[in-house]
Amino acid sequence: MMGEVQIPLIATNRINTPEIAEQVLEEGCADMVSMARPFLADPEFAIKALEKRSNEINTCIACNQACLDHTFTMQICSCLVNPRACHETELKYEAASEQKKIAVIGGGPAGMAAAHVLSLRGHQVSLFEQQDELGGQFLMAKEIPGKEEYAETIRYFNTQLQKYKVTVHLGVRADAQALVAHGFDEIVVATGVTPRRVQFEGADHPKVVDYAEVLTGNAEIGSSVAIIGAGGIGFDVAEFLAHDGTPVSQETHLYMKEWGVDMRYETGGALTLAKPAPSPRKIFLLKRSKGKHGKDLGKTTGWIHRSSLAMKKVEMLANVAYRKVDDQGLHILIDDDERVLEVDNVVICAGQEPLRALAQDLEAMGTKPHVIGGARDAKELDAERAIYEACHLAAKL
Ligand SMILES: Cc1cc2nc3c(=O)[nH]c(=O)nc-3n(C[C@H](O)[C@H](O)[C@H](O)COP(=O)(O)OP(=O)(O)OC[C@H]3O[C@@H](n4cnc5c(N)ncnc54)[C@H](O)[C@@H]3O)c2cc1C
Ligand code: SF4
Repeated sequence: MMGEVQIPLIATNRINTPEIAEQVLEEGCADMVSMARPFLADPEFAIKALEKRSNEINTCIACNQACLDHTFTMQICSCLVNPRACHETELKYEAASEQKKIAVIGGGPAGMAAAHVLSLRGHQVSLFEQQDELGGQFLMAKEIPGKEEYAETIRYFNTQLQKYKVTVHLGVRADAQALVAHGFDEIVVATGVTPRRVQFEGADHPKVVDYAEVLTGNAEIGSSVAIIGAGGIGFDVAEFLAHDGTPVSQETHLYMKEWGVDMRYETGGALTLAKPAPSPRKIFLLKRSKGKHGKDLGKTTGWIHRSSLAMKKVEMLANVAYRKVDDQGLHILIDDDERVLEVDNVVICAGQEPLRALAQDLEAMGTKPHVIGGARDAKELDAERAIYEACHLAAKL
């Protein structure tokens, strides 16, 4: 390669599809490309690329959760979208000794992963999803600036479910009676979660909405907002509300401007003054506990979320007790001082509750469903656990 250096140049980082790799080479940006995480997500990446089957690649979504975060916390490295990574001798997808008729209820990460592994092992699988598309909460996650690639996981499962001939019933809310009447050999319940409601005066005020209403476009948010709950979803909702228009993650020049990267390489280390676009609204991010916001976010990614919200001047308030919501706004007690946040909206991101009604109905009818993901336990739920549980169950049935 001719240019700034006279030695072969290898480009790396976020080259996660064969198309991007080809583009880097075709545009003469580098002589070779190097990848690591994409091979954890899909060890067959290279052969699928060679055989022009890139739509079958399980794409690395840059979450860092099961690879780098594990490594930096002294756990075995693996992959959120592929729990077999680095566990290939323990988690095996062997052909089923007898073909069973299996129903999977819920098309979120847990249900999609379970249906995929069950079907590739040779079972006859029916997947029921009440929405008109698969994805579950990943449909909301992919709306967050910087998490657009989560859509690739949904694309991957859609391709695989078609390939392994899973019968996918979209827009169908499965109920216990119909499932039992159908005579399935096994029923896997992956019905996920519902946002937890809060209990204080004015919790039903029209200003108050939950994160799902915001991220599905069912709630209009005004020019000032208080977010209750500063866990992963609270941070994501703040990120979502702090951006407007084209996501910076999708436009190179906007991204470089936001993070202060000098693309002309005129400054030392190519670092320049970050010029983030201002947030379109005033945002407060509140939590009940004391201490720093975001300390439980991913070890290798938490700093990005904290820096990003700091750039957008999101006001972080800790040690908050919630008093009430009224036309004036959100009344809080903070460090024993009364304060009113005069906001247009209050968004609740105060955790989730498991949706277990279907599992309970099935049990009441004498069947023994397998319950996985958020439906099993909503506490500290994430897609890593949901997919892990799904794959381990599906490997055994
Ligand atoms: C904004 C946001 C960002 C996130 N970011 C991350 C992240 O970066 N990393 C991470 O690991 N996790 C993240 N998560 C969490 C992750 O998405 C969830 O942990 C995961 O989706 C749980 O998977 P699940 O399959 O158990 O449940 P869900 O995703 O909730 O899926 C359950 C599905 O079941 C369907 N269903 C329910 N009842 C029925 C019925 N009776 N019949 C038919 N269908 C039914 C629902 O419609 C739904 O599609 C995020 C979540 C959100 C909201
Ligand atoms: S855990 Fe996330 S970042 Fe790491 S390889 Fe898997 S998808 Fe990629």
